[in-house]
Amino acid sequence: MSHHRPASHPPASHSSSPPTAAGVTTATRLQLSRLPVVLGDALAVLFPTACSGCGADDVVLCAACRDALRPRVHQVQRDGFTAWAALEYAGAVRSVIAAYKDGGRTDAAPALAAALRQAIGAALLHGPGTRADMPAGASAGVHLVSIPSSAAAWRSRGYHPVNLLIARCGLRPWTVLEGVGEAVDQVGLTREQRALNKDGSMRSRHHLEGQSFLLVDDILTTGASIREAVRALSAAGGTVIGVAALAETPRRFGGGAGSYETDHQMP
Ligand SMILES: [Zn+2]
Repeated sequence: MSHHRPASHPPASHSSSPPTAAGVTTATRLQLSRLPVVLGDALAVLFPTACSGCGADDVVLCAACRDALRPRVHQVQRDGFTAWAALEYAGAVRSVIAAYKDGGRTDAAPALAAALRQAIGAALLHGPGTRADMPAGASAGVHLVSIPSSAAAWRSRGYHPVNLLIARCGLRPWTVLEGVGEAVDQVGLTREQRALNKDGSMRSRHHLEGQSFLLVDDILTTGASIREAVRALSAAGGTVIGVAALAETPRRFGGGAGSYETDHQMP
């Protein structure tokens, strides 16, 4: 759900030395050939026209939506694990995250990363095997791992939404997990179907004996993706010490309808 209007044309007044008409055509063609298919979205990011949360004109994020993104880190229970989430996936939060993930609105990354950072911090502090007095930034020895994107998601986005936010936090994700085989899109599946769909759908690229991991996800719904990631990391010898999520869907939505665990299917 993206509220911005795609920019229909780039601004024409910024060039200090306008090239010839032929030069413009060639340069434009060269530039276009290097750009991803989300050109319209990229232009919308460069020249935003509407708040990605509510559609208000001429702001990237209006004051009200920025306020809605202020983290309220809380503990979340899912079958088999406990997570720390910064936000509830509803209202303006839902609109901003959806626009960030599927509308090319990477201009929301700073606000989203600020929220995610709080959830990561809480998960590190409270995770088993970590010390509560661990100084800031001393997460050395705990790797941050996200859920792998599908090939289709990579093609359409050109970025991994969670890894981009982790990087924005000044941290480095380890892309140690990869997808295995085919799984269908999670949207519209029941919780039981999601769990079956996920089973065995990830694997580690490395042996992980002695390594500790914090799983990081954007939208925590049923937790099927996280459980599969925990299984895959554990199967390779790793230890998962915690789970952090940008936002969680309240359990009343837990049946799957209307949830948005969109890109965790495997290629
Ligand atoms: Zn707004």
